[in-house]
Amino acid sequence: MRLAVLSDIHSNLEALESVLSDIDRRSVDDIICLGDIVGYGADPNACLELIRSRARFSVLGNHDQAVNVVEERIHFNPSAERAVEWTASLLDENAREYLASLPYRVSFENLLFVHSAPKDPTAWEYVFSGFEARLFGRYFAERICFIGHSHVPGMYALDASVRGYDPTQRYLINVGSVGQPRDGDWRCSYGLLDTVAGSYENIRLEYDVETAMKKIVASRLPKNLAGRLKAGL
Ligand code: ZN
Repeated sequence: MRLAVLSDIHSNLEALESVLSDIDRRSVDDIICLGDIVGYGADPNACLELIRSRARFSVLGNHDQAVNVVEERIHFNPSAERAVEWTASLLDENAREYLASLPYRVSFENLLFVHSAPKDPTAWEYVFSGFEARLFGRYFAERICFIGHSHVPGMYALDASVRGYDPTQRYLINVGSVGQPRDGDWRCSYGLLDTVAGSYENIRLEYDVETAMKKIVASRLPKNLAGRLKAGL
């Protein structure tokens, strides 16, 4: 099985299209989405339609939740809050219901998928290090837990002595962000797991970042949301 794992698309249509066309060239069996389909970017409806039609399933991200649950926006900075308000005003009832229907966690083929962290996926915790990943390791039984949320890709073996990817070992893997990477590299990030070849790869791809930035400015979203795309921050 070849599985593409996408997270944190954040309404960036140019980035999502770049990732989907790369996936189409790699004979992938299934696409899984780890949430934050919307928020920050200028194309929430188009990104939702693409994920709904292409992904086997998606879990719920904190920005997806904040579209419907206004109290959740208290944790957001002013730009994120403005973007979620703008997003909510653009989505129809059907799109809102889809976001409200997304689960916090899905277990599939001995793999766990959550947006933030496996201990309590409703708490929106961040995992930034191998040390933190190993603390979370006791909270899932599957071989791999896939996460997003920090927008920083990383592969953490639960056994600290393991180097690289070994299909007999257990991991917590952050696939990074499709639409707003924050590791200083502006290119889209997603994960590709091949259970037959026994490999995992973090894929980085260029996309039309200038168009995505222009659309943010034209939509009167906060300008810093455009600038950070180019900086990868
Ligand atoms: Zn996010």
